[in-house]
Amino acid sequence: MKSNKQRRQEIKAQRLRRIVKKTRAVNARPVDRPIGTVAVTPLLLRRNNSYGIPDFVQRGCYQDRPFRCKDCGVEEIWTAAQQRWWYEVAQGDVWTVAVRCRACRQRERARKVEARRIHREGLAAKSMGREHEDHPSAND
Ligand SMILES: [Zn+2]
Repeated sequence: MKSNKQRRQEIKAQRLRRIVKKTRAVNARPVDRPIGTVAVTPLLLRRNNSYGIPDFVQRGCYQDRPFRCKDCGVEEIWTAAQQRWWYEVAQGDVWTVAVRCRACRQRERARKVEARRIHREGLAAKSMGREHEDHPSAND
């Protein structure tokens, strides 16, 4: 014979299980997610060796995220769709977030491309100089 206390606990546990099940079902239906969110597909995320779980993975959805550009200070929103693209398509690290506005991001990318080009040209010039030293008669 079960005590009343036991019975109450069982009912409570059962109710909890039902709520969890219902919540999962709701999360599985995109229509019921609040506006400005996109579902996370954990399998598509880049592997990381950290023990922690990022907020968006725990929540199960990406959420529009306002931020201030670290270069020009403008306020912009990193949208849920952009986040999904960054983490699941571009395979961005799950602990990285947007810090630059779109314009500054493009400027920064162009700056990096240019820096790499200059670096490569520098290396090429150096190796050509070496060749020149090695074969002084080649260009005489
Ligand atoms: Zn900016």
